[in-house]
Amino acid sequence: MEIKKNQEYEVEIEDFGSDGSGIGKIGTFPLFIKDTVIGDKVSVKVIKVKKNYGYGRMMKLLVPSPDRVPALCSVARQCGGCTLQHLNYEKQLEYKYQKVKNCLMRIGGLKDIEEKMKMTLGMEEPFYYRNKAQYPVGKNKEGQIVTGFYAGRTHSIVENDHCCIQAKENDVILPVIKAYMKKNHIEPYDEKNHRGLVRHILTRVGFTTGEIMVCLVLNGSKKDLPNPNELIDALTKIKGMTSIVVNQNREKTNKILGKKIETLWGQDYIEDYIGNVKYQIGPLSFYQVNPTQTKVLYGKALDFAGLTGNEIVWDLYCGIGTISLFLAQKAKQVYGVEIVPEAIEDARKNAAINGIENVEFFVGKAEEVLPEKYKESRETMSADVIVVDPPRKGCEESLLDTIVKMSPEKVVYVSCDPATLARDLKYLCGNGYDVKKIQPVDMFGMSGHVETVVLLSQQKPDDTIEIDLDLDELDATSAELKATYQEIKDYVLKEFGLKVSNLYISQIKRKCGIEVGENYNLPKSENSKVPQCPKEKEDAIRAALKYFAMI
Ligand code: SAH
Repeated sequence: MEIKKNQEYEVEIEDFGSDGSGIGKIGTFPLFIKDTVIGDKVSVKVIKVKKNYGYGRMMKLLVPSPDRVPALCSVARQCGGCTLQHLNYEKQLEYKYQKVKNCLMRIGGLKDIEEKMKMTLGMEEPFYYRNKAQYPVGKNKEGQIVTGFYAGRTHSIVENDHCCIQAKENDVILPVIKAYMKKNHIEPYDEKNHRGLVRHILTRVGFTTGEIMVCLVLNGSKKDLPNPNELIDALTKIKGMTSIVVNQNREKTNKILGKKIETLWGQDYIEDYIGNVKYQIGPLSFYQVNPTQTKVLYGKALDFAGLTGNEIVWDLYCGIGTISLFLAQKAKQVYGVEIVPEAIEDARKNAAINGIENVEFFVGKAEEVLPEKYKESRETMSADVIVVDPPRKGCEESLLDTIVKMSPEKVVYVSCDPATLARDLKYLCGNGYDVKKIQPVDMFGMSGHVETVVLLSQQKPDDTIEIDLDLDELDATSAELKATYQEIKDYVLKEFGLKVSNLYISQIKRKCGIEVGENYNLPKSENSKVPQCPKEKEDAIRAALKYFAMI
């Protein structure tokens, strides 16, 4: 059947695409249709036809799906923010679970996922969860000052003073600023002719402390604001107001914020907590936008890390150190690595204000810093747990390679993109690690985004027989077994700064012709993937065997 643009068809929605659009088929030809959910019967107009798929616009909802709910926001369809408001929240969580599962299966080639994976951890309150908002300021057709959000992929403002995912404090802040602008004849910025003053209104709310920051992003400086006291008087009447600042951005740019900050009133930062760790947050600071679920997400990471207080932990892509500080409370030492120098400054400051001393932060690319530091000092820089929380593009293979070489007992992968997560897990699983637990967490309700925490641990082939102790006891008289596995491990760690597993020791013993018990640490089937002892560890183990006069 030839699919024609602008033609209308009736379809039933059968699946979701990765951005949360519904997918319905005309014959076998799939169409991505925004604002539809599985189970809807809709009349759709084809708006774009590609070779193997197309895009359609829902013209009429013929039969609504049982999973459909009315959107809370009146401009949910026009606004580019929420894509799933019309889907029941429980189903949103299921959709995110499936999305992660499919990626891990298709891209990662993982098996037995259902045994390891739990249902998405959702929010108690999936609305009003964001602590940071950036409203563009403009004018509507009638010439009135408006604030809202950009419509998907455009710069036209969809007017909205009550966003259902933003902190409710914004509902009182925005009218105050608009009234002040109107009274003082202050023009919003117009990007077409680079004129006007007020570009954006940025707000931040500390959910635990109740502290509020308002930042006006100006095509100018605070001197350009007439009668600033009128604005300050009105804003400081709002409960929690702590910081009123100006951000200068005179560039012709899509970037919202410039570099320079001026204080209009109060402090130039607010404070907030994630768990019991306190953070100072300025207008430019990176800070998780959903602190409630951040605690859930990082709590899972902490749980997966299984710290006892003796571990050396690396937190790669550490940002302002949120995970590092969270884990430092339960670890011996945490090292954080982050590419943005300002974030590391914040991380160090946050460690200091919380009196956390067992963390050290390094600026640089994780894939460069980790191998360098590891080379410098194996003894102190070894790792028991490595946590990664990379941006959407995931980890560089060279970093994964270093992780494998350092062979931490556990790797905890925190991901904001299931596709790159799946790719990276495939690499780690092909190089000595096993996926043990998978937990998706919903940080961005009403959108298609999903975060996932995964626990990996060193492959101890569970289809081999672990008879460590028994073996030593059984053969205690054998000259070949003078040293226990633990003694060999201790020697290798002390002399070479390397950690080695029983598996590696048994491999090398076998290579040296030492009897290790017929089945000890051998895979049952030919196909089982068993990590092979790297050369440098082999040399260290051989040295230990020599030391103990076993070879
Ligand atoms: N865990 C952090 C946020 C992680 S977001 C927190 O909770 O605060 C991903 C971080 O990776 C960002 O801060 C980004 O600046 C940083 N980043 C991106 N590429 C990097 C690289 N190659 N090496 C180290 N950090 C990087």
